[in-house]
Amino acid sequence: MKKISKEVIDVKNVNVNACLHPHPLMPDSYADIEVEWFSWMPGFDSRDLGDDDEEPLFRDNNILLYDKIEEIAVDRFNIALVNVWPLLDSYLINSLHISIDITGMLCSSSTLAAYNYVDSNPQKGNYIFNLAQSYLYKLLVVSDNGKDLKLKYHTTWEHEIIHLVDHWESVKSSVYRDSDLSTVYYNYYLLEYRIEGIAELYYLLKGGIDDIKNISQAKEKFQSNLDRIQKLVIDKPKITSKKKILNLKPMIFMN
Ligand SMILES: [Zn+2]
Repeated sequence: MKKISKEVIDVKNVNVNACLHPHPLMPDSYADIEVEWFSWMPGFDSRDLGDDDEEPLFRDNNILLYDKIEEIAVDRFNIALVNVWPLLDSYLINSLHISIDITGMLCSSSTLAAYNYVDSNPQKGNYIFNLAQSYLYKLLVVSDNGKDLKLKYHTTWEHEIIHLVDHWESVKSSVYRDSDLSTVYYNYYLLEYRIEGIAELYYLLKGGIDDIKNISQAKEKFQSNLDRIQKLVIDKPKITSKKKILNLKPMIFMN
């Protein structure tokens, strides 16, 4: 267990670890792992070398790739940890675990990464994150060609670590999420606006959001979104799942 102090940046003593999900070398990870689940990854060797060849999942070069992926995930996360370090002041951290979503079953396709507040346990200092396929793909391509990533990918983990700091608001928000009563759903909308807005602040302050460059633009955007959702609540006492998705769309793209 490590107690974070904002005075001293000490990332190497924080237990950050990553694991492929599923991992071919972990027998309990999945009963029947398919080669096809991995073949989308740049650098994965899925060649069929004939009957005598070993299973591609257990080839030495692919095993090295699994290690490389986990290392890349942790390295990028640690950079983010340094950037938002003061926000974690006084936090007790036992482990920060990254589940690397190989099959796309953990994350939606529009997501780059996620803070998994459901499986995290703040009382024990254990926090869980997911790294989605699309972000992993970018990280692997960049590690091969040496080019730089766009700002969005340089602020992704910062966004998710801010969600960690805001853990209990996500728990609160989830209470309202599944209601089909518009007035209840309205609470979810407002809380999500707050949660995603705060998490996206780092990206915003770095100049990443084109249509918000000052506080008055942020206020105007909030007011127009609020007017829209208030009209919906007044017009329709019940809200459908489709309408929920449409209304949350601007925020879903924030991850
Ligand atoms: Zn988010």
